[in-house]
Amino acid sequence: MTSNSKLDFSNADWRFDNTYARLPSHFYSQVQPTKVRAPALLVFNSALAESMGLDARCLESEGGAAIFSGNAIPAGAEPIAQAYAGHQFGHFNMLGDGRAILLGEHLGPGGARWDVQLKGAGRTAYSRRGDGRAALGPMLREYIISEAMQALGIPTTRSLAVVGTGETVHREEELPGAVLVRIAASHIRVGTFEYAAMNGDLDSLRALAEYTIQRHYPAVVASPNPFRALLEAVIERQASLVAKWMLVGFIHGVMNTDNMALSGESIDYGPCAFMDVYDPATVFSSIDRNGRYAYGNQPGIAHWNLARLAEALLPLLDSDEKTGIEIAEESLGIFPKSFQRHWLSGMRAKLGLFNEEADDLSLIESFLAGMHRHRTDYTQTLRALNPAQTLPADPAWHADWKARLGRQVQTLEEVGERMRRHNPAVIPRNHKVEDALESASSEGDFAPLHCLLAALASPYEDGSEKDGFREPSADGSTGYRTFCGT
Ligand code: AMP
Ligand code: MG
Repeated sequence: MTSNSKLDFSNADWRFDNTYARLPSHFYSQVQPTKVRAPALLVFNSALAESMGLDARCLESEGGAAIFSGNAIPAGAEPIAQAYAGHQFGHFNMLGDGRAILLGEHLGPGGARWDVQLKGAGRTAYSRRGDGRAALGPMLREYIISEAMQALGIPTTRSLAVVGTGETVHREEELPGAVLVRIAASHIRVGTFEYAAMNGDLDSLRALAEYTIQRHYPAVVASPNPFRALLEAVIERQASLVAKWMLVGFIHGVMNTDNMALSGESIDYGPCAFMDVYDPATVFSSIDRNGRYAYGNQPGIAHWNLARLAEALLPLLDSDEKTGIEIAEESLGIFPKSFQRHWLSGMRAKLGLFNEEADDLSLIESFLAGMHRHRTDYTQTLRALNPAQTLPADPAWHADWKARLGRQVQTLEEVGERMRRHNPAVIPRNHKVEDALESASSEGDFAPLHCLLAALASPYEDGSEKDGFREPSADGSTGYRTFCGT
């Protein structure tokens, strides 16, 4: 940093590269963010900025608000909106970034490459009837949940900042406008491949697949059929990801194929929420009337989405269609086993198990069935579970579990340690998220949001900053409804 850099708004050590804009031109359209009236930095993730090799102090100045709102474009960025398609609630649609603009890829320390995207930055070629804007509440919600996921150890896009625009957006009511700065390994979606298969020629589909391999799965190049290996690597990462969601009670809420990233990161936090009372049928999203994306359906939906990816990739899997279909089916067959393996190993850890026994699955299932029957809180029950204190509701299960713990060499102290590392004390409780959003959006008071973020930053540790953030709402979120992030 030079001494006058504080005045140079675009110099916060950005290092832009724009490889996505080198793909065939129908994959994106060039667009400039629409300027906003009065940009104000409302939340800033200085730790993330620093880990990306950015100058956090420079970004905290006025210059940060200018760049994060889209009013100033940092040197080297070539803003684009990405084209994609997607199955939304099972129905195919042509989509694209209707209100998100990719500034480009920032190159960080050690060769890392991150997409820097402004969500809510104005209209694009794909906006259809939308205004290209976002309201403050949903952008803060994405900030909170994505950072909570990161702290829980779950792959996710990140949130670098939320800026207010000084403008209002018209929804059911007038709401304060905002832009979220989203950081992602990339924004290549299952829907991007569906778009390529639908809209392009074989060469452009191949270009996208090769690009994805290079960016996320370089090791598959060496495999005899790299496109098959790509498909299988994506399947493996999604199986691991959705298992992690299930283990913490996370419900994505809108698992459309355009909201599933090839990188294996959780992406597009709209009507997502965490389950309180254990019930596989839990749905919070107001638009998910049939429960397609209910908690317990998520593994099956991920598998369905991956089948759409396999379909899009078919012509690359083999030049003979029949052989291509056979390959796709074989590859898709990996998902259920892989999911089960990841989930089972995560559940074993949550119950303090170090080794494996054939009956572990039934031990786990009867624990879950007990929680379902007694309508107990998923997170609190697991955090409180202790071999020394018999579960009042389920003494028989507790005895089985203690006997099982006795058949491994680890001490009960080691068991407790393992359980604490895998059962969070704090998750983003729905009522706490709503309180923080309400204070920030309606009153401009960001203190509750910062307290919530502090509690969520180290979810596996106990500490006074967690006080008041552990408990579910009194009604256990019955009747809680989330809305799409528009
Ligand atoms: P989402 O539900 O956020 O995954 O968005 C689904 C599609 O709708 C994407 O193509 C978005 O870009 C588009 N979209 C959502 N909100 C808006 C908006 N306010 N203006 C334009 N497009 C939007
Ligand atoms: Mg989306």
